[in-house]
Amino acid sequence: MPAEREIIYLDNNSSTRIDPAVLEEMLPFLTTRYGNPSGSHRFGAQVKEATNLAHERVAALLGCEPEEVVFTSCGTESDNAAIHSALQMTPERRHVVTTSVEHNAVLNYCEAVVRRGCHVTVVPVDEQGRLDPEEVEAAIRPETAIVSVMWANNETGVIYPVEKIAEICRAHGVFFHTDAVQTVGKMPIHLAGKPIHFLSLSGHKLHAPKGVGALYVNKKSRFQPLIIGGPQEGGRRAGTDNVASIVGLGKAAELAMETLEEENTRVRALRDRFEETLLDELEDVLINGDPKARLPTTSNLAFTGVDAQAVLLKLDQAGICCSLGSSCTTGAIQPSHVLRAMHFSNQRARSSIRFSFGRFNTEVELDEVLEILPRTIRRLRELVAS
Ligand code: PLP
Repeated sequence: MPAEREIIYLDNNSSTRIDPAVLEEMLPFLTTRYGNPSGSHRFGAQVKEATNLAHERVAALLGCEPEEVVFTSCGTESDNAAIHSALQMTPERRHVVTTSVEHNAVLNYCEAVVRRGCHVTVVPVDEQGRLDPEEVEAAIRPETAIVSVMWANNETGVIYPVEKIAEICRAHGVFFHTDAVQTVGKMPIHLAGKPIHFLSLSGHKLHAPKGVGALYVNKKSRFQPLIIGGPQEGGRRAGTDNVASIVGLGKAAELAMETLEEENTRVRALRDRFEETLLDELEDVLINGDPKARLPTTSNLAFTGVDAQAVLLKLDQAGICCSLGSSCTTGAIQPSHVLRAMHFSNQRARSSIRFSFGRFNTEVELDEVLEILPRTIRRLRELVAS
């Protein structure tokens, strides 16, 4: 890696850098302000004030009420908790509807509920990763407890029509959950008055630390907690609050509110210049995912004829971080379930790379990537041809 600069981080859908302003607000709660917010002394009450403020800040970002925000340990826990709650609240309903492109936090939880005797319908997507709300509606049965559809996909950035699907669920009287881990802080969200019962988010995707998340629980929804114990979070998530991280997530939400529009324009422009230049300079580059409805941060590209792992390795050596469109599970490289669900050939999936942009990426970094990446692809293609 070149010594003169830090890495170029284009893996923001995977995790983000903690914003310095977030860290600054967290530090007192890791040092001097260590009281338990449930404590019955002023020292604890001051900490409680800080976690209350975090509720307010996250609520402002989501357009909901502070009491509707339940802090959890991560996006995965939030996803699990939403589906768990719906199945607990309606024990006579043993069916879940979800999609083939969900994160494993939803898909593997669904597999677990199948082992406990429930049924799950997985609605497919088309080759652009799009979901037809009518197919979701057709999957709903009288015994459906909950429909869970992500707001935007972590690999392709494809945005799903969750507000429309939420209306369908309202008409059928079933709970609706959306995994908005990749959406919160990247798109404006206003939950008040919407028939969305649950929404998941995760701190480390929006410049807060790892290990903290939140679940929005609509005040009109009945709810059964996943983690049972003390009365924290209004009895909806037991366990002593992870105060510093909750404070950090609150600050990150406030920053996201302030920067949403400007960042969106700036980051979208970076992503668009990235794609336009590559499509211009290289042949046989394909955009994976619906170009009309994608997060402004995400670019998932197939470089036909090259092995994405080889590209990733070369980029890593040049100090550029991005992600594969495949994962190494049992020692063998498997195309990602998302790209498989989009009916891609193994070859296309194995030549796919996800680049995800964020707040700290700059034009100068992009210039450098656009210098290195086309050269790398050309060389690898020459090697394959020779
Ligand atoms: N859902 C989506 C769409 C994600 O991208 C992720 C993380 O990559 C998760 C859920 C899980 O979030 P966490 O890492 O906070 O458990």
